[in-house]
Amino acid sequence: MELYTEKVTLPSGVEATIREMTATEEGFLASQKMLKSGEAFEKILRNCVLEKDVDIDNLLVGDRYYLMLAIRRLTYGDDYDFKVRCGSCGQTFNMSVNLSELPVKKLEGDPDATHTITLPRTGKKVPFRLLRGRDEKKIAATLRKSPQELIRLSLYLHTVAVDGDENFSEKFFEALPGADSQYYRRQIDAVTCGVDSVVEVECPECDNEFEAQLPIGESFFFPNSKKT
Ligand SMILES: [Zn+2]
Repeated sequence: MELYTEKVTLPSGVEATIREMTATEEGFLASQKMLKSGEAFEKILRNCVLEKDVDIDNLLVGDRYYLMLAIRRLTYGDDYDFKVRCGSCGQTFNMSVNLSELPVKKLEGDPDATHTITLPRTGKKVPFRLLRGRDEKKIAATLRKSPQELIRLSLYLHTVAVDGDENFSEKFFEALPGADSQYYRRQIDAVTCGVDSVVEVECPECDNEFEAQLPIGESFFFPNSKKT
């Protein structure tokens, strides 16, 4: 039987051909260990992107996320049901999203460009770059062990130099004032590309309105194995 394939243009402009997942890829997702370590997603990308010259490790993080969504849609369709918990009243309820309607932000300019900013509090000049698959692996490894390191590590990996010094210490980010950290993250958001996976939610119980990150886990890839 011939598998479905589709040609997609990634947010950075790279073109790729994907195929739908088979029971082999579903097997990767069935392993909690592979799912948690990020290895399942890695293997799915490697198997389902048909061009062998597309370097998965070197793809921008925004492109990789777009690919995961495209593979999921080709395999199971656009409808995605998941559970959200209201932070205000604690109620858990079902949400439904059409994955084809998530806004996609295209990359403007060169994917290899560095963007130089001056941090408002410390006054340091920081050129930064966009993150790639190999950076995402480091983040996934840290996220498992010490999730509180996430922001610091992400800023560290983005950074090319600090005031002209390319051998800057990771410690610089330990003591980075909150105002600088927030400014830096906003500047990254302004130039990064990818799928906007934050959805607006209104709690049916208490009318609290909030934003939720689209969960990409088991139910994303196994839409029929809903846990109740
Ligand atoms: Zn509520």
